[in-house]
Amino acid sequence: MRINEIFYSLSGEGTSMGVPAIFVRLSGCNLNCSYCDTQYAQEYREDLRVTQIVLRLQLNPIVPLIITGGEPLVQADEVGNLVFATSGRRTEIETNGSIDPPKSWFKDVGCWSVDVKCPSSGPSYGSFKTKWLKRLRKQDQLKFVVGTQEDLDFVKGFLNGMTLKPTVLISPMASILLNKKEGIIEEYWNREWLQEVAEFCKEQNARMSLQLHKIIYGDRKGV
Ligand code: SF4
Repeated sequence: MRINEIFYSLSGEGTSMGVPAIFVRLSGCNLNCSYCDTQYAQEYREDLRVTQIVLRLQLNPIVPLIITGGEPLVQADEVGNLVFATSGRRTEIETNGSIDPPKSWFKDVGCWSVDVKCPSSGPSYGSFKTKWLKRLRKQDQLKFVVGTQEDLDFVKGFLNGMTLKPTVLISPMASILLNKKEGIIEEYWNREWLQEVAEFCKEQNARMSLQLHKIIYGDRKGV
């Protein structure tokens, strides 16, 4: 499997936010979102067999496993083998919603975290496979990353009248601050936007999800 990084940290988003977990970040992605913050995951640093990954995971034997990317389902066969090999451990898979996994995996995946790409994702907008909507269970989550009013309008239209089993997460995008003098790009939370998204979540009865790892560590890898 093409691996970008394996690390131990706190879950940064969604219903497991703040819970210690071991992450396996796979390399490669089939989409190209305008705001992608894991471009580095296009590269792979290690090519490991499933048995080698399982050995590494044994260093943190009791915490949940979060499989992320890039897009994990680009390596679907291998991910299926990993999920099967770690079936005694709670496993969460973060996916961009554009690829359908086999139905047979669902019993071994404790939580699917599935993105629906909004207009501000640029070329990735429209990539969501609606088949997910029937498949997602109560313990899963459907996530919308929102950066603009157009995104909120899209989410509202998407959710309109729908009864969904998974938790609906609304994740406000951080704003970018470019310091031209020092050549530094900083991310910060725009309170006005956070408040707008908070009001939207109240109206839609959705859960607001901030990216805890960015608040704690900023734009760092392996955290
Ligand atoms: S799906 Fe995720 S990893 Fe792929 S381009 Fe979009 S943000 Fe980046």
